[in-house]
Amino acid sequence: MPGNVVRFIAGSTLVLTAACGGTTAAESGKPVVDAAFFPLQWLSEQVGGADVTVEGLTKPGVEPHDLELTPQQVAGVAKASLIVYVKGVQPAVDEAVAQHAAERGFDAATAVPTLEAVHSEEEEEEHGHEGEEIAYDPHLWLDPSRMATIATALGGRLAEADPAHGAAYKERAKQTAAALTTLDAEFAKGLATCANRTIVTAHTAFGYLADRYKLEQVGIGGIDPDAEPSPARLAEAARIAKEKKVTTIFTEELVSPKVAEVLASEVGAKTAVLNPLESPPQGGDYISGMTANLSELRTALGCQ
Ligand SMILES: [Zn+2]
Repeated sequence: MPGNVVRFIAGSTLVLTAACGGTTAAESGKPVVDAAFFPLQWLSEQVGGADVTVEGLTKPGVEPHDLELTPQQVAGVAKASLIVYVKGVQPAVDEAVAQHAAERGFDAATAVPTLEAVHSEEEEEEHGHEGEEIAYDPHLWLDPSRMATIATALGGRLAEADPAHGAAYKERAKQTAAALTTLDAEFAKGLATCANRTIVTAHTAFGYLADRYKLEQVGIGGIDPDAEPSPARLAEAARIAKEKKVTTIFTEELVSPKVAEVLASEVGAKTAVLNPLESPPQGGDYISGMTANLSELRTALGCQ
């Protein structure tokens, strides 16, 4: 009997030691990456893989432009190994990075050429006095070729932050960039020959996509989806939609479709969803969400 007891205790000790020295220690040592909103979270997960813990700052279904950070999230930003964000999308994140993580912020907008922002009159009125308006359009994740460049840059930043896994970050970044380059080629091919090249959108989020694939975006609202369009802006959008024989007015899931519906009925068009991917698409990821966007665009624009 005494022999059995001793053996039992010895066995338990071994098991406990193995558990502590194994998974638990390895997990607690993983760098934490705070990703500001969906496309950056997806990209961080692809490039970081199992070597990092990715925390998303914006919950699915929340309009990221409106994000406010909880005190716990701000504390998380102060401790994270890397914060992946796009300056100008979420003032709360910009501020938390500036105050607590200036050296550990990876602003994706610094990795790619940016396009000038086209602000609506309503946004000028709303933000003009604050003098904080950023000069570029922040929606750069809607161009897969820019996302490929950002993937490579992110691999480099993660390798700097965690050199022990540097080769793995760079390899995953290469694979992710390759997948995004394939997606870019599908867009270029799918939108090469279309009856119409004008897209009328509720929220002016598709400037990079339009620029990359030679479409013309007419935004009803502004860069910030909450800015209500003025009657003059709506009338102008209606005039362009009629002139360009637009068949579809694009709306999105997280913004009220009312304005787009009013405009659509006025010009005899229908509405369809074009997802700015500021939140994860239902049951999908960045690639599947963008592929769905390509399909909507091809239908709306009459592409061959
Ligand atoms: Zn937006």
